[in-house]
Amino acid sequence: MMRTLITNTAPELPGNHWVRYGTSMDQALYEPSILDGVDAFVINASSLAHTPTSISKFVDQGLSRKAYCVDPQTHAFQHDLSHIQSRAKTTSGQLKKSIAKLVEKYGYLIAKAIVEDSRPVTPDDFAPLDSSEVKEFTRKVLEFQEKCIEDELRRGERKKYYDYLEKKDAGSAELRPFLLTAPYFYLTSKTLAAWLPINCELVGVAKKLKKGSRIAAQIVISKDILEHSDSTNRILEHYKAVQPDLIHLWVDSFDEQEVSQEQLESYCEFVTGLCSLARTTNLYGGFFTTMLSTSGKIPNLAAVCHGPEYGESRPVKPVGGGIPSAKYYLRPIHRRLLVRDALRALRALGYLETTERYFAEACKCGECKSIFSADPESDFEEGFTRTEPSESGREFPTLATRRHCGKHYLHAKNEEFRTEKSAEIVAMELEEAYARLKKTLSYDELGHCEVWKNTIALL
Ligand SMILES: [Zn+2]
Repeated sequence: MMRTLITNTAPELPGNHWVRYGTSMDQALYEPSILDGVDAFVINASSLAHTPTSISKFVDQGLSRKAYCVDPQTHAFQHDLSHIQSRAKTTSGQLKKSIAKLVEKYGYLIAKAIVEDSRPVTPDDFAPLDSSEVKEFTRKVLEFQEKCIEDELRRGERKKYYDYLEKKDAGSAELRPFLLTAPYFYLTSKTLAAWLPINCELVGVAKKLKKGSRIAAQIVISKDILEHSDSTNRILEHYKAVQPDLIHLWVDSFDEQEVSQEQLESYCEFVTGLCSLARTTNLYGGFFTTMLSTSGKIPNLAAVCHGPEYGESRPVKPVGGGIPSAKYYLRPIHRRLLVRDALRALRALGYLETTERYFAEACKCGECKSIFSADPESDFEEGFTRTEPSESGREFPTLATRRHCGKHYLHAKNEEFRTEKSAEIVAMELEEAYARLKKTLSYDELGHCEVWKNTIALL
């Protein structure tokens, strides 16, 4: 298949629905009707360094023509090394394989700290900021994002295609990411003064090194920064000076469904500030941010990214994997619930009275259509609640259950991004859902509807 060739220019910016590429296991979720609603994928550099063949194939075939970019994850090297070391019995204490690969790709500045000195990188490693080591590090981080997938495909079965392009002098920009992200480090109230100037300098260096490319600044902050307007103002001032083409925001473990109204208000204020500097994407966001973008409430909020299953918020320092649990995305409250709680809620709403009612009011996505037929109660049980005993004897959801939950969730997300409602209509719907479910669900599960509604009223 011939593709449209775009050469020497950054590819067009995709639409507002971005998904974080998880593991190769998730590839089974991305059937064509789901991919249709996804505008771009964000791929973790560590996954790409570790499994370049599988991801490159996915980008080339599975995603064909889907835009992608790579999160360089440079912050991984600034935390206590235990976060990037293996915990497996035989390799305990060694660098995780994916991280070791990334160290190789990023060169001496990182390798000296992590491998030679067995310590995290510190701000001192970047002094002086105009050193050739800093420039070399930035160049390597950008080139890994830019060329890893293309290089992999050139070596593989698409070699002939690339040779053909080269002969025609046509370039191959269509398989390159639509933006490059400058290296970045995590900012907390305590470390802001030390790392902020370094982050900004790295954006400046990246812009000089890749003049024809779109350069994103990734701003990764702790929640407490949002509470201090002197800190957020300082961040805004610094980034205003470097003028990134785009901004990627990630607030550590910022779960829209769990935060207080004060935190949500501060978040909205900060996002508005960032959007006044450049088009901004929240790399881990939920429906509340999606609504801010689709309703136009915060202009320039270009996109929201989430994971295929559990990715509407994320801790910056990785934590061990939890126990897998099946969750059903309950559309009226824009939240995933444990399936038993979802079942209670669906009953209370009357959505399980008939199949027609389920399709009309709960969900009529492709996945639900394949699950529901004659008896909605038992169809729900069969589709979303099946478990099987694990090796430890505990009951885990079956693979089929997890797939049903995952696909239903992705379909629901697709629709949220395509639906343009005013924030005021959303607030009314949240109020109604809250009133209808407050005697069925706990405040833990439902309270965000009130918090969101009240925050919208202040915007
Ligand atoms: Zn559904």
